Amino acid sequence: MHLLPETKGQSHHISVQMYSLESHCLDCDFVYYGQTDRALATRVKEHGRAVGVCYSNSKIAQHANQFGHSMDFDRTTIVDKARDYHRRLFLEAWHSQRDQNSRNEHIEIPDIYKSLA
Ligand SMILES: [Zn+2]
Repeated sequence: MHLLPETKGQSHHISVQMYSLESHCLDCDFVYYGQTDRALATRVKEHGRAVGVCYSNSKIAQHANQFGHSMDFDRTTIVDKARDYHRRLFLEAWHSQRDQNSRNEHIEIPDIYKSLA
């Protein structure tokens, strides 16, 4: 799919992969939902590095380091796909809201949607 109109003699191929992702802890029920506009493998590597350096802004790193738990990054799954940033934020919130083991921060979703969760 072409997101930009093609210019003569020059084609614009933009590869976009945007995911809502779900990562589980190997040692407890902790689950993390996030979203990215990059390749899933790239985002998972970043989470792994965040754990390695105890990055304090990462909920996954905080969890892993606080409890000495290991995240099962190999089992990270794509739970939804959306190209639009705001849709991804909504989906992140939607999945986080539905899963009581989720500890990640997310946007507030309107009450009307919560009743559907
Ligand atoms: Zn855990």
